Amino acid sequence: DTQSKLQLVHAHIRAFPDFPKKGILFRDICPILKDPAALKAVIDLFEEHVRKNYCHVDLIVGLDARGFLFGPLLAQRLGVGFVLVRKKGKLPGATVSVAYDLEYGKAEAEIQEDAVIPGQKVLLIDDLLATGGTLFAAYELMKKQQAEVLGSLVVVELKELNGIDKLRPLSVFSLVQY
Ligand code: AMP
Repeated sequence: DTQSKLQLVHAHIRAFPDFPKKGILFRDICPILKDPAALKAVIDLFEEHVRKNYCHVDLIVGLDARGFLFGPLLAQRLGVGFVLVRKKGKLPGATVSVAYDLEYGKAEAEIQEDAVIPGQKVLLIDDLLATGGTLFAAYELMKKQQAEVLGSLVVVELKELNGIDKLRPLSVFSLVQY
């Protein structure tokens, strides 16, 4: 059931103090990927949430890099396509980009100009919500492309950073909160 799946996911997240910089408590989702039951639980929980809350989804949009680990699996479950939001300079052809701040650094997010058709209903996905800078950049990119952003999904939400407030009105669904 839902509760045991959430517990399984929770049990497969590790914390590393002072990585990649002093003062950052890094939440490592690698053990989830290493355990097929835990990974299945993540996708089951996301799928359940999406089917319950959205009657139609056109695309899952994954954030570089760990959004790429969960996004395509969910997209396959839902029978929809997957699109990549990448760090600048990785995607060929015409692209659109947005600059943003990270919990630890600065970056630029980019998509292929033809990745999303205006009016398409999309869901954003990443491993973790910290300050919300990354998701906000992806949200901005989607709005630039006139996509209809239905909401976002993350495995982990770091509550004390208040990413949710920064992202409003974008809704964020998370499986595990710290
Ligand atoms: P933010 O833009 O601040 O919400 O940061 C989110 C992005 O940075 C996600 O793609 C995460 O993978 C990564 N990240 C930020 N903080 C952490 C953390 N404490 N532990 C693990 N990943 C993090």
